[in-house]
This record gives sequence, C-alpha cells and structure tokens, in this order.
Amino acid sequence: MAQINENFIKIPATYLFSEIAKRVAQHKEENPTAPIIRMGIGDVSLPLPDASVDAMIKAADEQRSAETFRGYGPEQGYAFLREAIVINDFTNRGIDIAEDEIFVSDGAKSDTGNIGDIFDVNNRVAITDPSYPVYVDTNAMAGRAGEPTATGEWTNLVYLQCNSENNFVPALPTEKVDLVYLCYPNNPTGTTLTKEQLTVWVEYAKANNVILLFDAAYEAFITEEDVPHSIYEIEGAKDVAIEFRSFSKTAGFTGTRCGYTVVPKQLMGNTANGEKVSLNKLWNRRQCTKFNGTSYIVQRAAEATYSPEGKKQVKALIDFYTENARIIREGLTKAGYTIFGGVNAPYVWAKAPVGMGSWEYFDFLLKEKNIVTTPGAGFGASGEGYVRFSAFGSRENTIEAMKRLEK
Ligand SMILES: *Cc1c(COP(=O)(O)O)cnc(C)c1O
Repeated sequence: MAQINENFIKIPATYLFSEIAKRVAQHKEENPTAPIIRMGIGDVSLPLPDASVDAMIKAADEQRSAETFRGYGPEQGYAFLREAIVINDFTNRGIDIAEDEIFVSDGAKSDTGNIGDIFDVNNRVAITDPSYPVYVDTNAMAGRAGEPTATGEWTNLVYLQCNSENNFVPALPTEKVDLVYLCYPNNPTGTTLTKEQLTVWVEYAKANNVILLFDAAYEAFITEEDVPHSIYEIEGAKDVAIEFRSFSKTAGFTGTRCGYTVVPKQLMGNTANGEKVSLNKLWNRRQCTKFNGTSYIVQRAAEATYSPEGKKQVKALIDFYTENARIIREGLTKAGYTIFGGVNAPYVWAKAPVGMGSWEYFDFLLKEKNIVTTPGAGFGASGEGYVRFSAFGSRENTIEAMKRLEK
C-alpha cells in the first residue's frame, strides 16, 4: 500500500475563507437585499494593462507559423524577460544583479513554497506572525514545522510577533534559527520596514549565518522614500537573501501567472560537513528538474509591463489601488478606528474595538455595515484582534463602505 506523506494530514484545514463564505452566505439568507461590499479579497479587480494584452495577442499569433512557433523555452525564463527585469527592477535602482541570478516562474506562491526543496528538513525556520499562510503550510508539508499545537502554532517554527506594541517591526529571534521569511510591504498588515530596519535584518543574517527569504510581491505599492523596493538595496544582502517578486499585484497577473526569484550567485548554504554550496546552482537544478518554464506568451506579457506604455499603464493600476487605500485609511480614521498599513501596500490593518476579537469584529462589520473583511486571526495568532481591509475593490464600493463606517 502506498503510504502518504503524513505531514499533510497534520495541517489543519484552512477554514478561513470557507468560514468567511459561510458567514456571508448566512447573512445573505437572513437579509436577501443586503448591499454587501467585499473588502476581504486578496485578488485584483482591474483588467490587465493593454500593453500586456497586446503582447499576448502578438505572441499567440506567432504560434500559428513554424518560423515563429515556440516549444520548450529555457527553464529559467527567456533572455528578453530576464534582461528587462535586470534593467528595470535592479540596474535602474543602482542594484547589481545578473541575468543568471533571475529565475522566471509562474508566480511567487510557487516559488515561496518550492524554495524549501533546497533546504534540509532540520533547518529551524522563523516566520513573522501574522503571515502569508504559504510559508507556514509548505514548511509543515516538508516536515520542518514539527507538530501543530492546540492554538494552531507549530512546535518547530519560531514566530516573530508583529503587533501594534512593536509597530509591526519584528524583533530579531532570540534562539538560533537558519531561515527567516520576511514579506515587505507586508501581507496582511500592509506595514513595511524602512531601509534602516531592514539593514538590521541583513546584518543579523550575516552575523548568524541565516538565510533571509524576502517576499517583495507588493514592492510596486511603495510610496515612501526610505522603504527599500528590493532587499538588495541593503549592503551585503546578496550574501544572505533570496528575493521573490510577482507580476500579480503589480500588473494584475493573478490569473495570467508570472513571477520571478532572485538567487545571487554568491549566496551560499552549508552541507552537514560545513562545505559551502551555491544556492543559485541548487535552485537552478531544482527548477530544471521540476519546472519547464513559464509560457512564452505570458513572458511576453510580463516583458510588456516594462515598455514605456506598459509602465504608464501599470502605474495607473497601482495609483488606483493606492488611492483606494488612502480612502480606506481616511474613512477608518474618521470612524475612530486605529489602523496600520495602507501607505505602501494595498491593505489596511484595523484594530478591533476594545474587547472584540477578529471574528467578532468581522461579524459586526458584516451584520451592521454589510462589509466583508478578513479576520486577522486567520493569518496567525498575532493577527487576533485585527481585520484586514483590501484596497483591491472598485472606487465606488470603497467610498460607499467608508460612508457606512462613518455613520
Ligand atoms: C499575492 C501574494 C503573492 C503572489 O503570488 P503569485 O503566486 O505570484 O500570484 C506572494 N506573496 C504574498 C505575500 C502575496 O500576498
């Protein structure tokens, strides 16, 4: 009989989104005409930039003729896209990254999940809390998280609390860890780290032989000067960090699927004997074995986001969501709520009124205001007592929701 990977059955069912759906459905049943506004979504609502759609049509058309048809492409991504990434996301920001340090993929969820393949099961992993659930669950699947406890936390993970008391700046781990997941600008809190605060992490990683797994999926939403767009803006980061990027939130590619991972050639891991091994080589090996590349058509769409028109169109998308976030911040503040984030990210993290938990606050907003949010507790124990408002909705709904809250 084939025995399963029992780590999978240790993982509690992710009831967050099904529980939200259940409560919304019940509210609808009791109030069939309730004008519900959904601010819980982590998906974009605006369509793709025209430049990307045009590029896909052209690329699709090329597939009709033998001269321009493309079969298997390079596993690491086509040179045209890796080149555009290097120039626009790194060289233009004064960061020295080479094309063979870029690995194009079908998105940052796959990459942040798959990166664990190149690390031993006995590494100690630290995760900021609350966090994007992929980091926790993929480590659990690999057997790196230990056992789940009654509170939903895992025995072998180190949780770095982020809350209003520390202004969402995680403290350095007090015990020995090997890998640390950082996501800035952050999902779900919408907060971020300044250059100085991120420098503390890079220096810590260097001094303690730690690898940082830096998820920069929301980089395009940064509006403030002193917030790094890439961890490689910090001196020495190429020795300690892997960075994940995505076209999903930046350019509306949530359904189109494209992202990339940066693994610097100088970044090393250790064997059990203490020999140093290039992580770039290991990741390349992993990708070439398990991945056959992102579709040519999609890579052309991603390339087009870096064209002059593409850049303008992407900026318009980001500006639209950023304005929504501003409206949410202003509305919640006027309504007397304590809020965080939303300046460099499309999420606003709101503190529940005193004495209310995440789900109570969620129910209050649903039943009294017909607004759907995401309970913070769904992202980890430190998310208890908060809800997440998303800025990815329409302008009309965003304004209407804030009007309801002000009343
Ligand atoms: C949305 C998101 C991603 C991007 O995932 P894709 O697979 O590229 O769509 C990555 N990390 C975080 C934290 C996210 O919220």
